[in-house]
Amino acid sequence: MSFNELKLIPPILKSIEESGYRTPSPIQNKVIPLILAGKDVMAAAQTGTGKTAGFTLPLLQLLADGKKAESNQVSALILTPTRELAAQVNESVRVYSSHLPLTHFAVFGGVKINPQLIRLRKGVDILVATPGRLLDLMQNNAVRFDNLKFLVLDEADRMLDMGFLPDIKRILNKLPKERQNLLFSATFSEEIKALCNKLLNNPISVAV
Ligand code: AMP
Repeated sequence: MSFNELKLIPPILKSIEESGYRTPSPIQNKVIPLILAGKDVMAAAQTGTGKTAGFTLPLLQLLADGKKAESNQVSALILTPTRELAAQVNESVRVYSSHLPLTHFAVFGGVKINPQLIRLRKGVDILVATPGRLLDLMQNNAVRFDNLKFLVLDEADRMLDMGFLPDIKRILNKLPKERQNLLFSATFSEEIKALCNKLLNNPISVAV
């Protein structure tokens, strides 16, 4: 398979080429067509498999034709367990979206909340967040999900290990029911499977 055969649009192919990627990784070959087809996906994939591009590239493509996020609104939410991962995913989004008119931003704890409150006022197409700080921002009415189309849980097993399940449930309760969901996890314990049942709608499972 080539990235071309995955039916990615030219602005995305351009950033892939600039990243120096020649061929899609196995997880990318499997998940990109499913995500582009609008499916909910649960994917077993470790770090280093190219999972970030696996969900980000099709997400960007699906968002490219959509309406821009308005004040305080978010179109796609990516939840990660740690601030390091949030920053890293946000950097990947920056690189892969560099030829698209989409905005992105990362929010996490351990830094001042005020600049985040101010930035969110303009709305953001893709928000990368850790659960705790996102809840703080939601309590400040800084983020609105009326037009949310996509939810990604990245490293879901680590989020549960870190005790984020109650936070995740509180966040899920505030999201519109009609949305596409993607869950990535290195392992699939009973707890993760239960979360998948709650979160995903007729999911397709993928493993590499
Ligand atoms: P991840 O598993 O998302 O943490 O990605 C691991 C590394 O693989 C990152 O440094 C990516 O830049 C890189 N990568 C992702 N997709 C590809 C690809 N198709 N070809 C070569 N490198 C890639």
